[in-house]
Amino acid sequence: MPQSPESFDIAIIGGGLAGLSAAVAIGADSEARVVLIDKDVGHNNLTPLTFSDVVQKFSLEDSVVNRYRGFSLHSSLGSQSIHYYSGFPLASLDYRWACYILLTRAQRSLGFTWQRGYATGLVKDREGWIISLNGSQRIRAPLLIDASGRAHFAARCLHLARPRMYSHCYGQIFSRCQITDSELAEDICLFLGGSERFGNGGGWCYPLGAGRISFGFASVTDSPRYPLKLVRQKYQRALREFAPYADILARGKPGPVERGSIPLGPVRRFVCDGLLLVGDVVGQATPWACMGVEPALVNGQTCGRVAAQAFKQRDFRARVLREYETIWAQANQRSYRQGTMLAPLQWTQGEEVWDKIAASHSRLTPEETLAHLRYNEPIRSLPILGWSMVYDRLGRIRRGVRDWVRQHLRIWQGKHVKTHARAEGS
Ligand SMILES: Cc1cc2nc3c(=O)[nH]c(=O)nc-3n(C[C@H](O)[C@H](O)[C@H](O)COP(=O)(O)OP(=O)(O)OC[C@H]3O[C@@H](n4cnc5c(N)ncnc54)[C@H](O)[C@@H]3O)c2cc1C
Repeated sequence: MPQSPESFDIAIIGGGLAGLSAAVAIGADSEARVVLIDKDVGHNNLTPLTFSDVVQKFSLEDSVVNRYRGFSLHSSLGSQSIHYYSGFPLASLDYRWACYILLTRAQRSLGFTWQRGYATGLVKDREGWIISLNGSQRIRAPLLIDASGRAHFAARCLHLARPRMYSHCYGQIFSRCQITDSELAEDICLFLGGSERFGNGGGWCYPLGAGRISFGFASVTDSPRYPLKLVRQKYQRALREFAPYADILARGKPGPVERGSIPLGPVRRFVCDGLLLVGDVVGQATPWACMGVEPALVNGQTCGRVAAQAFKQRDFRARVLREYETIWAQANQRSYRQGTMLAPLQWTQGEEVWDKIAASHSRLTPEETLAHLRYNEPIRSLPILGWSMVYDRLGRIRRGVRDWVRQHLRIWQGKHVKTHARAEGS
């Protein structure tokens, strides 16, 4: 027999940075009784890179693994740009620890409960949502925040739209690496240019201090299914061939695997009646650099504040919750729209184009590089954007026609040679 549901004011599904940031914001602004549902918190990835001012804004300094005063883009064909900053604008985090810091902060608010478990079902009646958990437990709440990341819990139950693309990452943390300043420095983090051989989504190489390095590659596809065999093969190839990191890593000791998918390309709506969606669940990671830590924290906070306001007014209709969407759109719509439009073009260009991009990056100022990484600036105008897409499409059609002609010419020549040989034989 299912138990009668336990009632709360707000239910949050997912204990990643997005869900926890929302929980902290609700606790700071209201006395709502909040339940967070997840079997554990912060197990998405191990050591993501983010911006130091974000770490400071959310008081997550204790979770910093390493700080970087330099950023470099390195293509597999050899071009490299390196920029140095006066401070340390980038940092890698211990994701799990960052989530525990937020959890502890949320637990300080009176109405907070952490329900260890997994949400398995969702229905709505006149009083709000009823969430079934594994086991026979059920939870009732008039407002639901779905922060279940790539599991897309509410989207699955309610058949809502999901992000269009997924960056499937595979990497490892190496220890006992001997890092010399001539090859790699402890305080420089690297993005590695995309390539069909290693992963069209590009890769990363972040020294984590004390001879540890996080290294990996990603493949961007339009399917949410994680292509384990493919990404592992490509990663292993990069590990053998991507100079000079291959040599440094070969001398190190391979450790924990970092893998998972980042949904990309935000959906059109983040709210419905009684429902807010935040973080990876709606594709809020940047579609140009695939960075989701800052969006999860910032949007989680906005989502939590709007949820707290809605609780105070006891009005959970979409038109009240839509303020969260408006705030997101004001800050992000332009750069995300361009990033999403260009994404199919960006992730299919070959390593030669990435080589040129790495070379051209060295002509940017350090601040421009950072703005590009973070906000997708310089943003191109819509006509130029449209033209680059048409140009790309035309290029693909031209290459398709050329390959088709070459292939048929080869078949025809093959037939011709055979007929000729037969004629000569007879
Ligand atoms: C390998 C890898 C490397 C990355 N590197 C970077 C980087 O360098 N920089 C960067 O900015 N971003 C990076 N990202 C992306 C970034 O980590 C994510 O965008 C961000 O963590 C999203 O946070 P979230 O809270 O939305 O989702 P998550 O952290 O995924 O949280 C979702 C939570 O929901 C829970 N959940 C799911 N379904 C259910 C359910 N039915 N019931 C209960 N709980 C449920 C999960 O257990 C999980 O804890 C990387 C991602 C990966 C996978």
